[in-house]
Amino acid sequence: MKKKVTIIGSGPSALLLAAFLDTQKFSVTLYEKNKAAGRKFLVAGKGGFNLTHAEDITSFVKRYTPYTFLASALINFTNTHFIDWLHSINIPTYVGSSKRVYPVKGIKPIAVLRAVLGCLKAKGVVVKYNQLFFGWDENNNPVINNKSIEASYTIFCLGGKSWQITGSNGAWLDVFKAKNIEIAAFKASNCRYVIHWHANFIDKHEGVPLKNIKITCGNATQKGEAIIAKNGIEGNAIYGLSPQLRQELDKSGKANIFIDFKPMLSTDQLISKIHGSARKNTTEILKKDIKLSSPQIELLKTYLPKDVYLSPNLLASKIKAFKLEVTGTATLDESISTVGGVALNAVNNQFELKALNNQFCIGEMLDWDAPTGGYLIQACSSMGVYLARYLNKLD
Ligand SMILES: Cc1cc2nc3c(=O)[nH]c(=O)nc-3n(C[C@H](O)[C@H](O)[C@H](O)COP(=O)(O)OP(=O)(O)OC[C@H]3O[C@@H](n4cnc5c(N)ncnc54)[C@H](O)[C@@H]3O)c2cc1C
Repeated sequence: MKKKVTIIGSGPSALLLAAFLDTQKFSVTLYEKNKAAGRKFLVAGKGGFNLTHAEDITSFVKRYTPYTFLASALINFTNTHFIDWLHSINIPTYVGSSKRVYPVKGIKPIAVLRAVLGCLKAKGVVVKYNQLFFGWDENNNPVINNKSIEASYTIFCLGGKSWQITGSNGAWLDVFKAKNIEIAAFKASNCRYVIHWHANFIDKHEGVPLKNIKITCGNATQKGEAIIAKNGIEGNAIYGLSPQLRQELDKSGKANIFIDFKPMLSTDQLISKIHGSARKNTTEILKKDIKLSSPQIELLKTYLPKDVYLSPNLLASKIKAFKLEVTGTATLDESISTVGGVALNAVNNQFELKALNNQFCIGEMLDWDAPTGGYLIQACSSMGVYLARYLNKLD
């Protein structure tokens, strides 16, 4: 008799787990409450579909907070392994200029999902839909649609709490809490951060990108692009600072960020350019000699006192470190991912719940953080593969 494995959820963590479990040894059933699999995975594919990132694995691992928690899983199934596996199921990928990894042009997210589901079908994994996990019975068996499901191993892959329409609504948090499993409240990550812009600035510049900038918050710095949103700022240059922003927001209700508009020029180089310019008008110097974009110039003009704007030394220092105050985050539902969920203390190194033998949690439902750009799907997939390989080795 094969041992039974119950997987609850059908996001990337569940799908990769099922794909790597030894179905000669296990009879695997995946339960999903929606009527279709991987809805958040499909939503992720609507923008740029970053399946992973091509960064060297040593620095890749350091993108996570806390990175020690995920290091073994990521090294066991790296970005390169993931790309090779995708190729093996006929999903060729390419590396974009930002090193993000996408399916090749013409391959839609639904085709990626179908290829993975096809792989599960070929292995004999049973996928059941409209199956809602409620809690546990008196024998600690999970209850799905009012029925206790007995299995040798149960793996929860229930996701976080962003984009609830996809099914990842975090409703399980209270159920886990009632079971005395340590949890942390959900918080938004990879989201818009609230800034109260001057009306005359935002009216002209809403939706405009600030390109090739560097943003610092606390001791962390992120390069990239940020979009000026109606009541905040979003984009990869700010998403990567989510842990530091959250920490400051939690502490004092606000966080200061410092934007470097010209990361390739030092303050001294900027000062000499301003001094050396034949032009008299500061705005013209910023435009023609320093080559700042119009929202960047407008930010400096709107926010700096006139004497600072007109002083080459002070202006140069502000171009390198333009301060803005963040006062909050977007809602959980709007954010790309959430932190919080099952506390890392509640599971061991194999992601097994300390409170419940042979029951595991993987994916975004655990309290870790990573920037967008492929790091989230990679970590969920790596956790799935790591756990599958661990279970495959058990007697
Ligand atoms: C707009 C957007 C864009 C994104 N873009 C990217 C990107 O480009 N790259 C990247 O790496 N990441 C991206 N992400 C994040 C990524 O999609 C998630 O981190 C990832 O899907 C999480 O996988 P998971 O397996 O943990 O859970 P999920 O994918 O969230 O799946 C959880 C599943 O569990 C089911 N479930 C929940 N509760 C129950 C229950 N009680 N009973 C039964 N089933 C239940 C849900 O219906 C859901 O199907 C994006 C996310 C969003 C919202």
